[in-house]
Amino acid sequence: MNIIVKGIQDKRYERNLQLIADLFFEDSTLEISAEESADAFEIVITVEIDHGFIHARAATVDPELSAFRKAPYEEKSTEKESFKQNKNVVSHVFLSILQQYTGMTQKWGVLTGIRPTKLMHKQRMNGSPAHKTRTYLKEQYLITDEKIKLMEEIVDRQLTMIPDLYEIQEEVSIYIGIPFCPTKCAYCTFPAFAIQGKLGKVSSFLAGLHYEIQETGRWLKERGIKITTIYFGGGTPTAITAEEMDALYDEMYRSFPNVQNVREVTVEAGRPDTIFPDKLEVLKKWNIDRISINPQSYTDETLKAIGRHHTVQETIDKFHLSRKHGMNNINMDLIIGLPNEGTAELQHSLNETEKLMPESVTVHTLSFKRASQMTLNREKYKVADRTEVEKMMDLAQKWNKDHGYVPYYLYRQKNILGNLENVGYAKPGEESLYNILIMEEVQTIIGLGCGAASKFIDPETGKITHFANPKDPKSYNDSFIDYTRKKIDYLESIFPKKPQEDKKARQI
Ligand code: SF4
Repeated sequence: MNIIVKGIQDKRYERNLQLIADLFFEDSTLEISAEESADAFEIVITVEIDHGFIHARAATVDPELSAFRKAPYEEKSTEKESFKQNKNVVSHVFLSILQQYTGMTQKWGVLTGIRPTKLMHKQRMNGSPAHKTRTYLKEQYLITDEKIKLMEEIVDRQLTMIPDLYEIQEEVSIYIGIPFCPTKCAYCTFPAFAIQGKLGKVSSFLAGLHYEIQETGRWLKERGIKITTIYFGGGTPTAITAEEMDALYDEMYRSFPNVQNVREVTVEAGRPDTIFPDKLEVLKKWNIDRISINPQSYTDETLKAIGRHHTVQETIDKFHLSRKHGMNNINMDLIIGLPNEGTAELQHSLNETEKLMPESVTVHTLSFKRASQMTLNREKYKVADRTEVEKMMDLAQKWNKDHGYVPYYLYRQKNILGNLENVGYAKPGEESLYNILIMEEVQTIIGLGCGAASKFIDPETGKITHFANPKDPKSYNDSFIDYTRKKIDYLESIFPKKPQEDKKARQI
């Protein structure tokens, strides 16, 4: 679908309108232009400011459609702020035209961001009462009641689990990325390298990781900064040997401040084909009891099609094995919309989940990420259409509710089937704190290891700065010292020494 927008000239609208067009069409192009184009869908949009109101109109000729939006216009102190008002009304009329044209309703309205609940937290932090927040989300973003209710439920759970969520910016969380997996899944774009035959690289990678843990731990101790949560992800952090895991957790306890007081340590075991009794014993030894075992689907043909190289039975066996070894907080990920799957396959996966009843179930919707094998060979994979995906999402939501799970975090992704979302459900009290913290962007997350993304959040201003470690083990091994230094320098700038720390240092 090629879309040409006429009437407005400011190119700054383009990106936002393209994001909205992407909610409706898989491969759309959009341009603001006065040129005629025979094969494009033309939309004329005009904006006027009159007597304290801003008016936007949109119209198309073939088919004949129209939309109108009027909103109070406020004088703003910066041009950027003023433009935001224009952008909002233009987005409204553009969305309305595409909804009329396609017959689709966008339940998230004009919201294209990936963290809807952040908007609700912001309103709460500013003291806005619930009814005003609802009206604001509906009017400003056209979000439906159903999604607003979901946001409210999630925000309430998050504040129950982390009552100091709005004051936690002086602490940090740690993400540790282990970039190895037994094999690479077809939909994956994570830093995940098949572990077979790369043993040399694993040991040098781990040497770099130990260094990063030591240096970061030293800095945190010196500054007296607490760690809220630690998350081992990847890749598959259980793809390394039990001895390597043991040494890593030993390092974590020795280097980081007060690990025994960290609120949560998670190891994403992920692939069942990496879980063995010796590794579970290591986890238990270091008091790590929150793990993820991800079935994704309980249909063997699907697992084969996506390159998981493990069977459904193996997932079930490894779940029971983990329970036997004391893992009492297990998360299981399911993906909606995997190749050749519809409601029947999802119902089967949910029936199987019912037999295990893990503490949390994360329901992802398949996303066609640009660099994945699945996207590169898209014609090979037959996936459910939008209506079916929506039905599956409803089914998962109902199943979770009926089985005592509550939603506690959500995020949206680009190119996600049916423009739906990923939702984490948990038994009340078993929610992953790390998932909440990373999603709501309330504190700094320091990323260590391969492909680990750090997100520095200035405790004073809330400004977010991203920093990524190299994605492949070779580049990581060549540069981890430099990357560690850069991160600590950045931490220095957002957590400056307090005057009494200076005084203490002088006395010493
Ligand atoms: S197990 Fe996870 S990280 Fe590893 S290849 Fe599959 S999707 Fe990627």
